Amino acid sequence: MESNHTSSVVTRFAPSPTGVLHVGSARTALFNFLYARKHGGKFILRIEDTDKERSTTEYESNILEGLRWLGFTHDEFARQSERGAIYKKQLEALIASGAAYVSAEEGGEGKRTEVIRFKNPGKLVTFRDEVRGDISVDTTELGDFVIAKDLDTPLYNFAVVVDDADMGVTHVIRGDDGIANTPRQVLIGEALGAPRPIYAHLPLILAPDRSKLSKRHGAVALTEYRDLGYFPDAIVNFLALLGWNPGDEREIFSIDELTELFDLSKIQKGGAIFNTEKLNWINRQYLQKLSPGVLFEDVFAIIPPRLKLMPQWNEERLRSMLPIMIERAHTLHEIKVACDNGEYDYFFALPGYVAESLLWKDERDHAKTAMRLETVADALERLTPNEFTAPGVKGAIWGFAEKEGRGAVLWPLRYALSGKERSPDPFIIAGVIGKSETLERIAHAVRALTT
Ligand code: GLU
Repeated sequence: MESNHTSSVVTRFAPSPTGVLHVGSARTALFNFLYARKHGGKFILRIEDTDKERSTTEYESNILEGLRWLGFTHDEFARQSERGAIYKKQLEALIASGAAYVSAEEGGEGKRTEVIRFKNPGKLVTFRDEVRGDISVDTTELGDFVIAKDLDTPLYNFAVVVDDADMGVTHVIRGDDGIANTPRQVLIGEALGAPRPIYAHLPLILAPDRSKLSKRHGAVALTEYRDLGYFPDAIVNFLALLGWNPGDEREIFSIDELTELFDLSKIQKGGAIFNTEKLNWINRQYLQKLSPGVLFEDVFAIIPPRLKLMPQWNEERLRSMLPIMIERAHTLHEIKVACDNGEYDYFFALPGYVAESLLWKDERDHAKTAMRLETVADALERLTPNEFTAPGVKGAIWGFAEKEGRGAVLWPLRYALSGKERSPDPFIIAGVIGKSETLERIAHAVRALTT
């Protein structure tokens, strides 16, 4: 019975555990995952650990951990190191048919070794690439290339082709460094009588200056992004846009939307630019999308216990600080760091400062500054606690600030409330800490200026 085309899509992600799961390989995994999901097909994870010297279980764990974190669940799993018998059988078959042969080599220092070479028919190979179109390569120059060191030690190109055929892979979606290997793989596939998969080679990921992407352009291991507090769905969103877009202006996509929209035909040929600012922007969109309840729980879980022991600690105040926190952060982790650094302490305790800091620019007159603060206090005194919101506070004192000079009024007020050179504007702080606390802090500043 013919299986119907859409349910027969089989993709695979085939990392070599010779390094961590980095941005480029994670994007390859995503595109394979999306394509299989879109077509109701199968997504295979295949660990290509034939290079025993460079492969490590630590790297394999890192790759699995990164994939799990991103949510790319696989339908099948294989490890090449456990498939030796399959490769051996196919090597023997090729040798028996004359498509491969054992050749004696000069092993250096007069030693003789043997390898298994593929008998290259030396012809023009044309394969279809979904991203680049038809690619033709004359394989004559490749000569009779080596496909295995011996029957138990196949090389990469051979193992890949045997596996793709054995696992029924229909679409080979991988980085464009795979293009160079494809002609060899096509020849091997033909010799094995394997159906040829459809190829899609993804554009290289470049740094913003179009140089090769490296560590200095940001963390590269996916697990590092996890540890820096990025959301996995934001990372997935970001990875999807590395070389693909749905053809319009949209930039924020859930994994379900991506699954629906994803298409090999919309993958771009030119290099994809990796831009940390864009990643941060995307992550912030996800941060801002969290419901206030979830955001509160998340922030509550990461703030230092110290904050909860401060004199004016209360949960409601933390709740009303959340908009301030997410305006200044791209990730939950940045919020945590800000809290750890004491950046928000003044919301929970009277800030400490020297009286001089309350003076605006060239103003040297303590008494005058104190009087301005008293005028502000009088105006705020008249607001009911309900009216004591950021806009309410602003409305009550804006006229006076305009008349007197904004800096002359708002700087001392802001400093009295925060004790900091930089902070949100005084209306916002006042709105969060409330009427009595605001008046108390102003009174404290007035005392500092006049005693
Ligand atoms: N194992 C290869 C690599 O990590 C990928 C092979 C393939 O996708 O065909 O570069």
